[in-house]
Amino acid sequence: MLKRVLSRSYTTIDRWNSIITTIESTGGKYKYVAKDNILHKGLTTCASEILSNFESPYDATVIELLNKDMDLIGKANLDQFGMGSATANTIYGTVINPLFEDDDYITGGSSGGSAAAVAANLCDFSLGTDTGGSVRSPASNCGLYGYKPSYGRISRWGVIPYAQSLDTVGIITREMNVMKEVFTILDQYDDKDPTSMPQDIRDKVAKAVEVRNRERNGKYVFGIPEEIIVEELTDEVKYKLSLVIEKLLDLGHTVVPVSVPSIKKSISTYYAIATSEASSNFSRLDGIRYGKDHNFEGGDETIRGNRSKGFGEVVRKRIVLGNYSISADSGDFYSRAVEVRQQISKEFNEIFYLPHQMTNPDGLFEDPSKVDFLVTPATINKPLKISDYIKMEENSMDELTNDILSLPMSLGGLPAVSVPIKDKGLDISTQGIQISGQYGDDYSVLDMGDKIIKEMNM
Ligand code: GLN
Repeated sequence: MLKRVLSRSYTTIDRWNSIITTIESTGGKYKYVAKDNILHKGLTTCASEILSNFESPYDATVIELLNKDMDLIGKANLDQFGMGSATANTIYGTVINPLFEDDDYITGGSSGGSAAAVAANLCDFSLGTDTGGSVRSPASNCGLYGYKPSYGRISRWGVIPYAQSLDTVGIITREMNVMKEVFTILDQYDDKDPTSMPQDIRDKVAKAVEVRNRERNGKYVFGIPEEIIVEELTDEVKYKLSLVIEKLLDLGHTVVPVSVPSIKKSISTYYAIATSEASSNFSRLDGIRYGKDHNFEGGDETIRGNRSKGFGEVVRKRIVLGNYSISADSGDFYSRAVEVRQQISKEFNEIFYLPHQMTNPDGLFEDPSKVDFLVTPATINKPLKISDYIKMEENSMDELTNDILSLPMSLGGLPAVSVPIKDKGLDISTQGIQISGQYGDDYSVLDMGDKIIKEMNM
């Protein structure tokens, strides 16, 4: 384990390995760092060898929007291209969780550098990306708020794609008011991003949410998907969830079990879709069009050599898996995964009271017993020691199981926030609770997360 941390040949700025590149301060209301797969004019490496000398000529839309009021002070470490759940697959060394003094623990990932920088007080907020949980997982492990917006709500223009139909830019903060302020700046339609949520949908969502809120009159229905209560959940997180349920009931809300049967298929569905999209996205990284050229002989050898040297092991494995999923040999694995994904969205729409404003804008509020929010744990267990994580990683299925709590919301394009409920008898949180809601209901999800924390952590 230590070898992996200490043998790095690339420099990180702080002792947690969270910041890769510092950027000269220009002043601004809050200091922030951006995950290093978000372009800013300058070095943007995705924590990979292949882009280790890549300088972006322009800023991503999110950076441009923040330029006026906020102060970008650095780029944050990540799992290469966003692939991973611990921020250990990086050329800069595994990111270390700042909450623990006694030993080295993981931060979760893949936006571990973004979370560690906020947890270590190096900045006020950070940007990460969340394709299948990468903002919620490290926020949960580092005692922070981690928010993944509805798909398309925040522009992806200038974000190096991992799996473009799932990628979202997310925000990590210590304070919910900072989260809301930053989200309000980023919550804009962007004509440079073809998947940006159109303005008319934004307006429809705002109106529908107003109607729903009026009807609910402050008392909401919360659902707990039974498929998410997997046996791997620790007793501690089950206990935390029970405290949240008790508090919601005390406050006059309703809590009901719900069923979203296809959640059980979300791991295989997600990995088929994400790796397929990644394998085609990354084909441009060959050392000729993009990426570092290692001066191989020429011809096929150039591409093979540059890609083998440039991508880390996890990325290489996923490219192979993705190529297989889209090949005829796989029996149309990719298309079948897309069908399951549609089924998951359909099942979500059946349980939510608020109609989906993209697919069912004329939907009526018919059945008030339907749910407004889902409440689930954000991560299965507490952060592991880095050494234990590396042992576990050898069985890569264990790593993937952890994602069961975050992947369903990504596949459904739903907004979700991980909130830090304090650990029993302690002043910190190392395992968050996740609040999610119907597509577009982002502000309500954030408000609910805020209220729950205020009530629980008093
Ligand atoms: N752990 C998941 C993966 O490796 C999620 C990553 C992410 O959200 N970027 O694909």
